[in-house]
Amino acid sequence: MSRIVIIALLAFCCLSSTVRAQETLIPRPQKMEVRPGAFPFDKLSLAGGDKTNEAHYLETQWRSILEKKPSRGDGKGTVKLLLEPSKGDHPEAYKLLVHAGGVEIRSSSSTGVFYGVQTLLQLLEEHRHEASLPYLEITDYPRFGYRGMHLDVCRHFFSVEEVKHFLDYIAAYKINKFHWHLTDDQGWRIEIKSHPKLTRIGAFRERKPFDGDAQKTADSTVYGGFYTQDQIRDVVAYAASLHIEVIPEIEMPGHAQAALAAYPELSCTGGPFSVGVNWGVMKDIFCPKEETFALLEDVIDEIIPLFPSSYIHIGGDEAPKDRWKACAHCQALIKKEELKDEHELQSYFITRMEKYINSKGKKIIGWDEILEGGLAPNATVMSWTGIEGGIQAAKSGHDAIMTPASHVYFDYYQGNPQTEPLAFSADLPLEQVYSYNPIPEALTDEEAKHILGTQANMWTEYIPNFKQVEYMLFPRLMALAEVAWGTSNPTSYKSFEDRVVSQFKLLDRKNIHYSKAIFEVVGEASRDADKLNYTLSTRKDPLSIRYTRDGSEPQEKSFVYKDVINVGDATLIKAAYFENGKKISHTINQHFVHSKATGKPIQLAEAPHANYAEGGAAALVDGILGSRAVHKKHWLGFIRKDVEATIDLQNVDTIASVGVSVLENKGIGAHYPASITVLTSTDNQTFRTVKTLMVEEIRKADGFVKLAITPQKARYVKFVVKSSGKIAAGNPLEGTDSWLFVDEITLD
Ligand SMILES: [Zn+2]
Repeated sequence: MSRIVIIALLAFCCLSSTVRAQETLIPRPQKMEVRPGAFPFDKLSLAGGDKTNEAHYLETQWRSILEKKPSRGDGKGTVKLLLEPSKGDHPEAYKLLVHAGGVEIRSSSSTGVFYGVQTLLQLLEEHRHEASLPYLEITDYPRFGYRGMHLDVCRHFFSVEEVKHFLDYIAAYKINKFHWHLTDDQGWRIEIKSHPKLTRIGAFRERKPFDGDAQKTADSTVYGGFYTQDQIRDVVAYAASLHIEVIPEIEMPGHAQAALAAYPELSCTGGPFSVGVNWGVMKDIFCPKEETFALLEDVIDEIIPLFPSSYIHIGGDEAPKDRWKACAHCQALIKKEELKDEHELQSYFITRMEKYINSKGKKIIGWDEILEGGLAPNATVMSWTGIEGGIQAAKSGHDAIMTPASHVYFDYYQGNPQTEPLAFSADLPLEQVYSYNPIPEALTDEEAKHILGTQANMWTEYIPNFKQVEYMLFPRLMALAEVAWGTSNPTSYKSFEDRVVSQFKLLDRKNIHYSKAIFEVVGEASRDADKLNYTLSTRKDPLSIRYTRDGSEPQEKSFVYKDVINVGDATLIKAAYFENGKKISHTINQHFVHSKATGKPIQLAEAPHANYAEGGAAALVDGILGSRAVHKKHWLGFIRKDVEATIDLQNVDTIASVGVSVLENKGIGAHYPASITVLTSTDNQTFRTVKTLMVEEIRKADGFVKLAITPQKARYVKFVVKSSGKIAAGNPLEGTDSWLFVDEITLD
């Protein structure tokens, strides 16, 4: 072999290992240089004398990846974990070096060493087939000091073992904060010795069909569970060994129904209450009485020694003021403290608890509603309803943690609801998480220093068991990790997705349940002037997509997807991805309608809510049916108003059938309208009522209302869709305003 060929081969080998190593690590390191050469696995050994927690961790994980224990060199070993003081280093920084002498991980902190170990484990996993590690040098550190993951154990309960698995998963991606949502309307989950009823009563609720398998009691009619203080200490210590800080959340003044079920005297009305069984926002909240503060202070006194974190999260979100408005004590307190209203009373509540918590040497975090009525002096804001809370906090000199629902709510769908298990009815695909930049553009560099970092939230209303927690966590955790580490690059999302796919091997071997939504075909329907288009995409070769236009299941011999589909008069397009003649994705369906109303001018008397206005009025006559599971796309949403839509057929025509789609999803407060009235006119002045349909008939039609009417001449057709108003008692979100969602209108 000539020297030139050898050099070329060497170059190829090094280039390919560079590419591979770069492609697999998540989060991507700040700096990485791959060099010629590789160190064989069989020469890897751990220093015999290294008894540190990190060495022990490496040993255990090593075994699970390479299916054998690393040898322990009697002396130094070839894998060295080196804790060495250095000046000016980022406290979590590390260096990882693979060279002819073996592997060195250096850091000034055990946390940095731990992250070096995590990176090494991913490299071992990736290179297990060649059984050697490429020579390389990694210099790495996180952008944000707060890289958080939240878990709601109230809506559904998870055992100590399951919580530890959760911690293992997040530690592997260098997440360093665990926000443990311990109390809510549907369960109080932490033992408080001075007030045993909090768990004896508050930890168990009437069992419902959606409740999962975490049955912590012999009584099959109740669901629940709680952690003893010993178990809490055990979890906190376990987290600490993974360099994760646990931040407990005790909700106040809202989301308190489980506590009020145990101690109804702490409410405004005196109760009685039962532990919540429905999801949503409950009206009965803590009344700011002395007895309430006394109990909450006792709770804090017991919480503090259990959690070394400097933070206690006190909730502060979704506290309706109805009871406070009607309560003599609350009103007297507002007067006595010279407060403006109930929002300032909430601020008084939070500030008073903050003072107590500060006096014990701890700080509070609260959801962004704690800004209403004035922010407690030292509070850190967790911005969830959007990014505004974070901006407002940072601008006023407060710290903020960014957890906007739009980018990091892991209870939302990861893909098409047709192919994903039931979730909260909103979308959050992997790419959307990856696109997130936690620093809002509105902040100056100085203000941006108050953004501590970001966190994803795992609310568990629709997550009844731990397998489903895994599913909702993966792979989105990987995107969160890279965003929080600060090495994400949304413009190269595809290469991130490739790294995610290579990480799936590890998830498979660990038997972790995860979403394969990124392998599904994605369909996007749109209207372009008079034409309906349907675009299909996949992370692989789009030419391998097959589709049908007649409602039949796609086969290998069906239409090959080449470019945007001209929908024409098709009413249903089905598509799937094929490989070697076999369908390997789910089939996705898109319905289209064609009627005299399609594409015609339409006027709305009142605009839809800004969050549900995509496509504007024209969305109601665009010929595209929105998904009934996710009401964001193609649906228009209205709150506190009726819908009045007038279609102009542009010519007088005969109408014999009218149709409209409406949506009901009680979990999110979306209800069928009270009635739908159809009116016609030839001049847009005088309208004649043709038909009124009441809610019972709308429900019978499952929201797809289609009515035959006496054939009549008309140019203008008006739909008046009446909101059902406040949500009736016994429903989730009872007493709040209902949402009205409207989609496609048809006229024939
Ligand atoms: Zn009260």
